[in-house]
Amino acid sequence: MRNPVYSAGLRSFKITRSMKILYSLIAIPVLLASSCKKGDDKKSEPKNTHTISFNTPGNEPGFIYVDGQYTGSKTPASIELQPGNHTIGIALQNSFTYLRKETNVSGNATIDFTNADKPAPKTWKALWIGLYETTGISATGNCSTHFSQSELDAGYDFFNWSLQQHFEKYSYGTMKWEVERKDISVPVSLTRANANWFTVEPSTITALMPQIQPGVYDCVFVFWREKEGSCSFQSNYFGLAWTNPIAEPIKTGYVTVKFDAGTSITDRINYYKTTDPGVYIHEWLHTTGENFYQNKGLALPAKAGGYSVHAAEMYNYSFPWMNWYLDFVSGRVPNPSGEPKYLGIGPDGLLRCTVRETAVNNNCR
Ligand SMILES: [Zn+2]
Repeated sequence: MRNPVYSAGLRSFKITRSMKILYSLIAIPVLLASSCKKGDDKKSEPKNTHTISFNTPGNEPGFIYVDGQYTGSKTPASIELQPGNHTIGIALQNSFTYLRKETNVSGNATIDFTNADKPAPKTWKALWIGLYETTGISATGNCSTHFSQSELDAGYDFFNWSLQQHFEKYSYGTMKWEVERKDISVPVSLTRANANWFTVEPSTITALMPQIQPGVYDCVFVFWREKEGSCSFQSNYFGLAWTNPIAEPIKTGYVTVKFDAGTSITDRINYYKTTDPGVYIHEWLHTTGENFYQNKGLALPAKAGGYSVHAAEMYNYSFPWMNWYLDFVSGRVPNPSGEPKYLGIGPDGLLRCTVRETAVNNNCR
C-alpha cells in the first residue's frame, strides 16, 4: 500500500452517524446562501472586468488569490477582476509569506503589496505528550516499551521541525503554532483491538491529563515507542488521527505517532526527515481536512478510501507526498472537474477560527 502511507483512525468509522447529523444541519443554510447568491447575480449582472497587476516586495513572484481562492495565476502576471470589493492575497513563492489586502476594483489598476500587508498569523495551540513507558499485552505477554528523556527530546525536536518546515511554511505564515509539552512518566496502557492493532486512546490520555478540555488546544500529539527488545506493539500504521475533532468529547484534534526507534532514535528520525518526513502534517491534516474545514464550507479534495488526505494519487501526486501536503494546505490542488478550479484549505481558510475556537463558539466560522 503506497497510499495511504499512514492509516487514519478507526474512530472515524464510529462517528459516521454524528457526521451525518452535522452535514444535515449545515445543509439548510448552505442552500439558502446559494439561492441568495443567484438573486444577487441577476440584479447586477456585472460583465465588464478590469485588469489588475501587482507589485510585490523585491518583485518576488507570488501565487494570486482572490476572495480566498487561488486563481491559477502568479505575479508578475495580471488578472481580470469584476468591479467591486475583493480580498486579494499574494502567497510569495520563495519567502513563503502571505500578503493580503481588501480592495475596491473600479478600473484597471496596479496594487502595491508591501510587508505591512502581512496579516497577523492565527495562533494554533498544540499539546505534545511523550510517553516514558507504554504497556500492553503483546504476542509474548504483558510488557512495556520505554523512551528516555533524551529520546523524548529527540521526538519533540522532530515535531517542532515539522511545525516549522511543513505546517507554518505551507500556511505561508498564516499559522503560528504554540506548543506545550507535558510528558507522562506513569505507564500508559495500550488498547488492543486485536493481535495487530494497539492504540493509545484519547480517553486513556485525558484520564491522566484533565487539562485537555474543549477550547484549550487545537490538537494533542502523543509520541510513544512501538518496540523495544522482544516487546512489540507493531500495528499497521505509523501515525493515527481522529478525523472529526469537534464530534469528540474533547473537541480537540488527536494524533498519535507510534515510533519505531530501532537502536538509535536520532538515526531513525534522520532517515524519516530525508525519505518520508510527512507523518505529523499528514496526521494533522486528517484532523482538519476530513470534516472540520468542509463543515466551514471550504472545497477540499474528494475522498479516496474514505479520506481526503489519502487522495494524493487520485490527483496525480507522488510519494513522499510533500507537494500534496503543500497544495492541500495552501489551497492549490488542481480540480479536474473545474469548479472551483483549485481545492484545499488556503491561507484565508487558515485565518478563520481554529479548532479550539470553533469548539467553544458555534458562530465562529
Ligand atoms: Zn492517513
